[in-house]
Amino acid sequence: MSPTYTRGDILRISSHLGMSVSEFQKKYLRKDRDGDWINKSLPCQFLNLEDNKCSIYAVRPKDCAGFPHHTKRKMVDYMHVFKQNVELCPATYRVVEIMRRRLSQDTRPL
Ligand code: SF4
Repeated sequence: MSPTYTRGDILRISSHLGMSVSEFQKKYLRKDRDGDWINKSLPCQFLNLEDNKCSIYAVRPKDCAGFPHHTKRKMVDYMHVFKQNVELCPATYRVVEIMRRRLSQDTRPL
């Protein structure tokens, strides 16, 4: 799964890395079918595989900073994201489980 990069993200991160926007885009990003900028490769090139930390944490994409997106006002617009994240993110799993139980009126504690 790749974060989506906004124009602001691309400007901020390319500047942080001392690269031009076009160099940054060419080296790391591609457009998905919706026209959004996403990573060319997975796992994310900014994940330090030695310590499992983000190497650009201070300037990471907004999409990463907002993960797992549970505070979005139009939560229904993020259901497709929750569906992707539910197997990877314990917080998302818990939120989805709470919603599922509320909808089925299951009152047992989780
Ligand atoms: S938090 Fe960092 S390593 Fe993780 S996806 Fe975002 S940019 Fe990549």
